[in-house]
Amino acid sequence: MEQGILVINAGSSSIKFAVFGNGDSLEPELRVKGQMEGLASDPSFQVKNAEGRKIDQRDEWPHGSALSHASALRYILDWLREKMGQTQVVAAGHRVVHGGLVYDRAVRLDARVIADLEQLAPLAPLHQPHNMAAIRALAEIAPDLPQVACFDTAFHRTQPRVAQLFALPRALLDSGVRRYGFHGLSYEYIAHKLPDYAPEVKRVVVAHLGSGASMCAIRDGKSIESTMGFTTVDGLPMGTRTGGMDPGVVLYLMQDRGYDVKAIEKLLYKESGLLGLSGVSNDMRDLLTSTDPHAAEAVDVFVYQVLKYLGALTAALDGLDALVFTAGIGENSPEIRERVCSRLEWLGIRLDQTANQQGGPRISAVDSAIPVWVIPTNEESMIARHTRQVLR
Ligand code: AMP
Repeated sequence: MEQGILVINAGSSSIKFAVFGNGDSLEPELRVKGQMEGLASDPSFQVKNAEGRKIDQRDEWPHGSALSHASALRYILDWLREKMGQTQVVAAGHRVVHGGLVYDRAVRLDARVIADLEQLAPLAPLHQPHNMAAIRALAEIAPDLPQVACFDTAFHRTQPRVAQLFALPRALLDSGVRRYGFHGLSYEYIAHKLPDYAPEVKRVVVAHLGSGASMCAIRDGKSIESTMGFTTVDGLPMGTRTGGMDPGVVLYLMQDRGYDVKAIEKLLYKESGLLGLSGVSNDMRDLLTSTDPHAAEAVDVFVYQVLKYLGALTAALDGLDALVFTAGIGENSPEIRERVCSRLEWLGIRLDQTANQQGGPRISAVDSAIPVWVIPTNEESMIARHTRQVLR
C-alpha cells in the first residue's frame, strides 16, 4: 500500500484538501485534490484526480444542514478511506497563515505549538482561527496522525530588519507589531522552481496575483521584501481587500462616519478592492469583459498598483533580473500581464505577444533586457514537501 500525505487548507466556509504520494521524488506526486465548500449553509463536495478530471461530487445534503470543520474533515477522511484504499494517509500538513516571529519554518504540531499558534489569532482573525479549528478537529478524529503546520509567514523571516519594521515606538515593535508578509508558501514554491527555468537569476520580483494578491522581492532564493505587512490587507488592492491605504482613513471613518471595529473590518477585507471600486465583481474575468466604466477603472487601479510596487521592490533588490507572474490572474490573464509589461519599457522589458497569449512559460521577447516568466504556483505541493521533511 502506498503512503500518502494529506494537505489541508481550512478557511471560514471551506476546507480544501489534496493527497500527495509520500515518495522520494523532489516534487511530491499529486493523487487527488478536492474541496468541501459552503460549510456554514450549503455544503458541496468535489474531488478531482491528478489530471484535473472530476472524479466525485456531492451537492445534496439534508436541507438546511451546516457542517463544522470536524464533520467536514470526517467526511473527507471517510471518502479517502473508501475511495482511495490503496493510499494510506500517514501525515497531515496544514496551511497556517501566521507563524509569528518564532515559527520561521514548518513545525510538527503538539499541544504546546497549537497553544502558541492560537495566541496569534488576533494577528490574522479571518484565517488563523479556522486553520486552528481544523487542526484541533483532526487531532480529535485521528489522534495518532502526525500533523505539521506550514506557515504563510515563514518564508519572509529572512527579510532584513529594516524591511520588517514599521516606524512605530519600540515597545510596539518589540511586542510583535511589525511587517510579516504572507503568501510565503507560494513564493517559496516559485523560488524553488525558478532555477529550472532561469538558473542564473539572482534578483526576482514575483507577482502573486489572485483573489488575494501580493508581490515579493526575492534575492538568491530568499525573501527580502513583500507588499503584505502586518496583515493580509496591505499592499495591492485585491478581490475584496483594500490593499495599502492611509491609516488616517480608518480614524476618520471611526471618528466622523460612525464606523465601529466590525464595520471597518468588513470594509477593509470584504467590501473593497476590485469589488468595491467596480461595484460589479471581485473577479478579474468579469471586470475585463464588463462595459461598466467603473469596472475598467478598477482594473486600471490594480495595474497601476502592481507597477508602483514593482518599482519599490526593484529598488529594494538594487535591480531586477527577472519578473514572474503567478496565481489566478497572473497565470491566466494575458491582458493584465500585457498591461503591466507594456509600461515597463523603462526597465528594458519587452513582451513576446504570442508567448504571452499562449501563457509562457517565458513571455518576454528575446531582446528583452529582463526575462518575464509565467510559473504556475503550487502551495499544496510545498506543504506536502515540508510535511515530508519535518516527519523525516
Ligand atoms: P486564485 O485566488 O489564485 O485562485 O485566483 C482567483 C482569481 O483569478 C479569480 O478571482 C479571477 O479574478 C482570476 N482569474 C482566473 N482566471 C482568469 C482569467 N482567465 N483572466 C483573468 N482573471 C482570471
